[in-house]
Amino acid sequence: MSKDMMFYCIPQQAYMRTENCMNLRKRPAGKAPAGAQPMLRACEKCTMYPLVDKKKVPTVSLGDYLGGDKPKIANLQAAANKKIIQAIIIK
Ligand code: SF4
Repeated sequence: MSKDMMFYCIPQQAYMRTENCMNLRKRPAGKAPAGAQPMLRACEKCTMYPLVDKKKVPTVSLGDYLGGDKPKIANLQAAANKKIIQAIIIK
């Protein structure tokens, strides 16, 4: 996926880059070692990220976003999306 794709992060209620979502999740959960930033609570509890990883969230390019376009909000209740989300909850 292009680095410069924007999506709407539902847990954080914010537009962000798909790559940022992946980077945020690489942070240590709970107590972070000195100098490191801990994972955000929103990311710790997030069930939406598999949709980001699988490119199932609506996106717009960063260029379009800066031009005023906003990505649609993913429908977490859609059957196909629920299935993807369910897969990580069961794990
Ligand atoms: S992991 Fe979840 S809460 Fe964190 S940025 Fe990605 S979608 Fe948002």
